[in-house]
Amino acid sequence: MTAACRRDELQRRFKVYERQRSFVSAIGFGPLLLIYLLVHTRYLRPWLPQSREAELVVLLLLPAAWFAAVMLIHGWWAPARLGLQCPRCRHRLVGRAFMDAMSNGQCDSCHADVVSDPQEPA
Ligand SMILES: [Zn+2]
Repeated sequence: MTAACRRDELQRRFKVYERQRSFVSAIGFGPLLLIYLLVHTRYLRPWLPQSREAELVVLLLLPAAWFAAVMLIHGWWAPARLGLQCPRCRHRLVGRAFMDAMSNGQCDSCHADVVSDPQEPA
């Protein structure tokens, strides 16, 4: 985004972001779901370490770290790629920042105009 964009365009970009976010969270949640489904079967047993602590890491901490990493990377990468950033300070216009931009037309970090038509169409 090089200049302020229209409300409907910002809304469209945010919808794409939200749709991607759902898909990415499914990818992030996949390993945990797979482990949950396989934990009481014989298929997972050969892959697990012997000690209880290492088993806990493999079964819980690694999938949780994967989920957090996938969501964080998407949260950083997608707004830049979709143009959901303030043109001046590169603040990501997602979540509350998106709501603020839609309501007052400004970046909630540097107060630059990010929406060219901030008023709700009548
Ligand atoms: Zn800004």
